[in-house]
Amino acid sequence: MKKKNLLIIGGILLAAVVMLLVFMLVPLRANCVVVRLGSAEYARIPLGSPQTLTVEQENGAVNVLEVTENGMRMVSSTCANQICVNKGLVTLDNWELKGGAVISCLPNGVTLTLEEDPALAQGAAPTAAPQNDRQPQAEKPAATEKTSGYGWYFDTLVTITLYGAPEGTMDELHAACQRYEKLLSKTVEGSDVYRINNAGGQTVTVDPETWEILRRAKEISALSDGAFSVTIAPLSAMWDFTKGTNRMPEETERIAALPLVNDGAITLGEGCTVTLPAGMQVDLGGIAKGYIADRLAEMLRGRVACAIISLGGNTYVVGDKPDGTYNTIGVQDPFDGTGALEGVIFAKNISVVTSGTYERGFAGPDGTWYHHILDPKTGLPARTDLVSATLAMTSSMDADALATACIVLGSEGALRLARENGLDALFITGDGRTIMTEGFQEKFGYMTYEAFNNR
Ligand code: ADP
Ligand code: MG
Repeated sequence: MKKKNLLIIGGILLAAVVMLLVFMLVPLRANCVVVRLGSAEYARIPLGSPQTLTVEQENGAVNVLEVTENGMRMVSSTCANQICVNKGLVTLDNWELKGGAVISCLPNGVTLTLEEDPALAQGAAPTAAPQNDRQPQAEKPAATEKTSGYGWYFDTLVTITLYGAPEGTMDELHAACQRYEKLLSKTVEGSDVYRINNAGGQTVTVDPETWEILRRAKEISALSDGAFSVTIAPLSAMWDFTKGTNRMPEETERIAALPLVNDGAITLGEGCTVTLPAGMQVDLGGIAKGYIADRLAEMLRGRVACAIISLGGNTYVVGDKPDGTYNTIGVQDPFDGTGALEGVIFAKNISVVTSGTYERGFAGPDGTWYHHILDPKTGLPARTDLVSATLAMTSSMDADALATACIVLGSEGALRLARENGLDALFITGDGRTIMTEGFQEKFGYMTYEAFNNR
């Protein structure tokens, strides 16, 4: 009996020791994110601090990650990378420190790890994480001095990379984006577009820039036979492609609104006046980002060695990289859904704009994909054989509007539009064909992403 009791007590003690050992060996939860460039520590961000982290790849694509209470999550991404998902979020919560495990190795040598910060572990106040942007620069920065910035404007991630920019340049670009948002957004009360849309048939005076966008919009509408129409607003307002309600218009309200779509009915008068018949409204979503990209590029010409501006599907490359290598712009693979690239364009002093049916939209109750580019003749998402249209032009505004028109027109009409207007274009069809206009490949050295990687 005595021996048996001893055995039981011994067993309990052994189990307790084993459990203690297990608890000691279970990895500690990380309490900060460490960002390394190569082996050098670049930033140390305590979990739960309100921080977003932009990780940029060599081709200008970015991942934006948010540091949460539990780890990190992907906010948005324009790059081809295993942890990137274009639609929706990759939630990387519940990451645990396992011997300083590398969570992800990004192609440009940025490594993200979750680590136990000794200072934090001892309850010390979190130290401020280093900022992404560089410290103030010298008056005449070297052409190789690189500055990166990003922001959320026009419902889109805006990323800017500058080489050799004088101090304050990035701030000026941000201020310009803010100004354009206030001027051109249809939802910002008091903006030019808001005033035009709420004038009830009265004439309004607008900023010369708004007037100029409308003037060019009317021209592009005419030359695309109305496929591009900024007066799409009453119809685009009936759909919800951004807020997640997945609203679709009733057939009757949609049909009733069709006569309100007619860019020819916009009257532009002397002194920057705009008159719209009552009931009509404008939506500059298909052209404004291009116009803004042009203006930002203009602000940078002659001031920086090189700049890459990206506003969603609108990219503008100013100049050449200081090391003489070309800037590359990726064309997204429309079928991949993770932001992977279909191909690469070599760019210099040019804007490359892509409109795609895969970018924004939602799956309806029957599984049909409803995308955000509407056919002004039906008010429905354009029924088109194209999934993406990419134009390379010095005017980003023209490229933006024309790329939208190309999607509506479909490959046949888009190729005709390209031929008539001497456009350099690349189209991807729903059945996976890549169509380029003559000379596109020679001019921009287009190659598939696979060929680019193996070159
Ligand atoms: P994104 O702005 O997403 O890059 P686009 O340049 O193709 O894509 O513009 C699509 C936006 O333009 C829509 O979200 C809507 O605001 C507006 N729009 C939709 N259809 C048309 C159209 N046929 N003509 C002009 N603007 C359009
Ligand atoms: Mg467009």
